[in-house]
Amino acid sequence: MTGAVADTTPGALAAAFSAAYGRPPDGVWHAPGRVNLIGEHTDYNDGLVLPFALSHGVSVAAARRDDGVVEVRSAQTGGTLVTAPVTGGTVVAEGWPPEHAWATYPVGVARVLSERGTGGASLLIDSDLPQGAGLSSSAALECATALALCDLHGIEIERAELALLAQRAENEQVGVPCGLMDQSASLLCTSGHALMLDCRSGLSSPVPFAPADAGLTLLVADTRASHTLTGGGYGRRRAECEEAASQLGVAALRDVQDLAGALGSLRDPVLRRRVQHVVTENHRVEATVGLLRAGAVTELGALLNASHLSLRDQFQVSWPEADAAVDAALRAGARGGRMVGGGFGGSVIVLTATDRAARVREAITSSYERRGWPPPRFLDAIPSAGAHRVN
Ligand code: ADP
Ligand code: MG
Repeated sequence: MTGAVADTTPGALAAAFSAAYGRPPDGVWHAPGRVNLIGEHTDYNDGLVLPFALSHGVSVAAARRDDGVVEVRSAQTGGTLVTAPVTGGTVVAEGWPPEHAWATYPVGVARVLSERGTGGASLLIDSDLPQGAGLSSSAALECATALALCDLHGIEIERAELALLAQRAENEQVGVPCGLMDQSASLLCTSGHALMLDCRSGLSSPVPFAPADAGLTLLVADTRASHTLTGGGYGRRRAECEEAASQLGVAALRDVQDLAGALGSLRDPVLRRRVQHVVTENHRVEATVGLLRAGAVTELGALLNASHLSLRDQFQVSWPEADAAVDAALRAGARGGRMVGGGFGGSVIVLTATDRAARVREAITSSYERRGWPPPRFLDAIPSAGAHRVN
């Protein structure tokens, strides 16, 4: 995980831009990372997810260029300059050196958006979001870049569509088979709300979510075990879900109505576990939305716990640091917690009474200490606004 620079204010970023490029930026844009409150591994099963935007994210200072070139630096990669033409094939096919891999995200976005009329830009990126922690720094980077390019070149694209274009950039240009949740959350979330996203229709709606109003804190603990989408486990789970859907004769696991009947008809015990998770997880999203709309935030803990157990035992994507964090949090009196993200590394979320939050953090940290693991990093997850121009 790469550290953020100390000062990520727009003014400091604009000054750093001037120092790097010898001219001031035309503006500064910000796109948040996200946490998925509930609905894990449901996205590629055409199901429901419920992310919300964090107050942490990626900022980009940018200036328009009219020579068809995009040049980009990031404070998190030591400021090295990467330059590429805006038009061309897919970045992933160009075989960039590994030390430039991070720049495939902004350059990929510029390539995809160029089909819609945007052009070149000079970009300076800075972030206070941990990378590879399951908080979607990749989508934040894409969405901040996308918004900057659209504004700089006077191109208007609706946010739901911009999310699709940013997703396409990650899929085709970077070569990562992500779903649509991260980009939708970064672009469409609003302050004090989560976003229920139906991954089949692409339709989304805001759901009030303000834990602080109920005396609660939602902690994110980055377990420091870094996840990777290319590690194989994620792809295998997707393939298993497709196989199960095909054996059940449905387009996607979202369509399973009769869970008991489906489980009875599948012969492979592994596929039965996967179906059990996906179908019940979709119901947990609906139950969560119901509770939030009723103003019963305190009741979410049980659903978070159920989600974690299902991800651990049925979908089998949890990892030791996540299980330890959730266990320690519950023993310290938290209301609930679960792993978030694709699994095999990344972060957990914990819902706790605010006056117990310090105790919960300490309990998690000391459980890591006892096992000789590096301490987790915590951040308060405050449901925040989606991507926007900051100046
Ligand atoms: P996540 O989205 O969960 O943080 P990913 O592996 O999808 O994890 O994306 C992380 C990658 O995104 C990093 O390895 C890097 O290539 C790129 N990235 C994210 N933020 C930045 C940043 N501030 N500067 C440079 N690259 C970044
Ligand atoms: Mg990502």
